[in-house]
Amino acid sequence: MVLDAIAEFDRLGRDAFLEEYGYRRAIGYFLVHGGRRYDSKAIAGVAYRGVRGRPLRPDEFSGGNATVARVLGDLGFEVTKPGQAVTVPSVEDLLQKVDSLKPAVSPTTGAQKRHQPLTLLWAIGRAAQGEPRLTTWESTRRELGQLIEEFGLEEDRPSPEFPVLWLYHHGLWDLPGHTDVPRASGSPAQRWMKEQRPDSGLRTWAHEIVTDQEDVRAQIVVRLLGAYFHGVDHNTLLARIGLNPVAIRGGSSTPGRVESVVERVIRDSLLAEQIKRAHDYHCQICGDRLALQQGFYAEGAHIRPLGKPHNGPDEPDNLLCLCPNHHVLFDRGAIAIQADLRVMDTTSETPLDLLRLAPNHEISPEHLAYHRKVIAERS
Ligand SMILES: [Zn+2]
Repeated sequence: MVLDAIAEFDRLGRDAFLEEYGYRRAIGYFLVHGGRRYDSKAIAGVAYRGVRGRPLRPDEFSGGNATVARVLGDLGFEVTKPGQAVTVPSVEDLLQKVDSLKPAVSPTTGAQKRHQPLTLLWAIGRAAQGEPRLTTWESTRRELGQLIEEFGLEEDRPSPEFPVLWLYHHGLWDLPGHTDVPRASGSPAQRWMKEQRPDSGLRTWAHEIVTDQEDVRAQIVVRLLGAYFHGVDHNTLLARIGLNPVAIRGGSSTPGRVESVVERVIRDSLLAEQIKRAHDYHCQICGDRLALQQGFYAEGAHIRPLGKPHNGPDEPDNLLCLCPNHHVLFDRGAIAIQADLRVMDTTSETPLDLLRLAPNHEISPEHLAYHRKVIAERS
């Protein structure tokens, strides 16, 4: 109902909409939706058509804008208060929040628990399938609990209360109508959830981003899979949350099938990850690997570049695992790899070591030849 009123506001324009229903311009309270501002009282009055069979006139409901704002807020809409600047969080804000989850660590294995990332993946899967933003606590507890049992750490209890509360305080989760939300720990938190049984879901702005922007969805999924789900079959997990599994082994997708952006981005990232793991993150040219706090770091380098004019394929045999320095040198042709797999420094014509290989990673001689000829310009 509120969305219908918003759609009509968009269609008529602000002034015509307000005039049509006899409302004045709002001064303090605005409803924020899709990055735009709407006069909150007028939207609420028109939305009331769904209840009363006709829109309310402004003098028909009292309590002032603050009440309207609270009701709209309870319905899950964001409403700004007087003097508050309208800032709609951006994709960068969302990614930054995804990157700054703080999962508890298993006391026995030191592994990060997966409740928070699984909660986000579950919500993203729902958004991708066009499901409503908010779900009842019964469904949340059941569905998320099963997911945590299936994909969490071995010793984990399902307890979906904790990630929901934590993500609420982290600014990603919404518990419409609730203000006195406890911290995400201990039995008071569990008791509160049991008593309140809140509907909940992603915040409106975050839900809109992951519903509308496939590429952002893919980026989040890839980040979460890479950071928290080592040793888990990613495709099984993706299928479980309702995202299409992606073919990795053979590289590109089955001909004739239209592939979505999200599948392609995820597949590319998983493919590179697979190659890096085959080499245990050691550079195939120098053998070094970079140790970061989050783990080892290497880059997936395409031999024959993707895209025009080279049109290299995104397949395992067209990828190398390189350190950042050798990635740049290789991409710029300062390094080439001969047919006998000897690495050549093309700036000084010096032969270097042999390319390091891994048992389950074949490299295409044709793509190496293309790189020598076109990128390094050697015959
Ligand atoms: Zn290197």
